[in-house]
Amino acid sequence: MVQNEQISLQFFASGYCEAYANVVNPISGKGKAKFYAVWALLFIPKIGYVMFDTGYNDEFKRATQGFPDRLYRWITPTFVKESEAAKSILAAKGIAANEIKYIIISHFHGDHISALKDFPQAQFLCTAESLAQAKSAKGFQAVKHGILTGLFPKDFWERVQSVESISNKIITSSEGIKEYYLFQNEHFRLTYLPGHARGMLGFIFDTDNRKIFYGTDAAWTYETYSKGILPRPIVKLLFDSWQDFIETQNKIRAFEKNHPGFEVLFTHCPKTLNFLADEIET
Ligand SMILES: [Zn+2]
Repeated sequence: MVQNEQISLQFFASGYCEAYANVVNPISGKGKAKFYAVWALLFIPKIGYVMFDTGYNDEFKRATQGFPDRLYRWITPTFVKESEAAKSILAAKGIAANEIKYIIISHFHGDHISALKDFPQAQFLCTAESLAQAKSAKGFQAVKHGILTGLFPKDFWERVQSVESISNKIITSSEGIKEYYLFQNEHFRLTYLPGHARGMLGFIFDTDNRKIFYGTDAAWTYETYSKGILPRPIVKLLFDSWQDFIETQNKIRAFEKNHPGFEVLFTHCPKTLNFLADEIET
């Protein structure tokens, strides 16, 4: 990536987990589906490199050795090679782990935060609500919310800040989506997308030549989102709020309708794989 003081965005994937396709799409899903753990690398002028999520690395296996965290691995069997970890991908691009200034944590599910320990200089950002839940959830409750505290670096609590505290402006769009302006750069805004997980974040990347609405896990596939197909009700057990999940999808659909130039992407959607900077074997 050329550091020409222009904002830039690239997507990568680090590992995947498997789940039954008919849980995601009860109408036409068959067999098992691979959920790639996509993350994004941004270069932000005057700030430097910023990651949005981290994908999987080996740490996930270590963090899910014992009970009750092992339940997490049983529900979502995970596959990742060390060469696919974010740190390895960045090193191959000539970017050292300590050049990552911030990691934005969309939510605390293992496929989004497994590699936090690999970035010793990064400050962590997430919503105040997701942080409060991560702080208070213990034992079985934490696993139910998909929070694996074993993935946190030892100094996590000194390095984390809420996006509310560092935003220079917070607005609510006409579609009802809260947008956080930060890093003094209006081309990149975080978006508040609750439901799948408490206080989940996505982002809007908005430049003259590239417009992306990244919905993280607000839906699992573009197909189900665009057709209004909801996942099997069993996932309610793992979601933070089913009602918020539905409302968030409605707001994203309204945003997409009002902004025809935008590509709407979700972390685990097969369509997103077409946007990756590196090819992966599927
Ligand atoms: Zn998730």
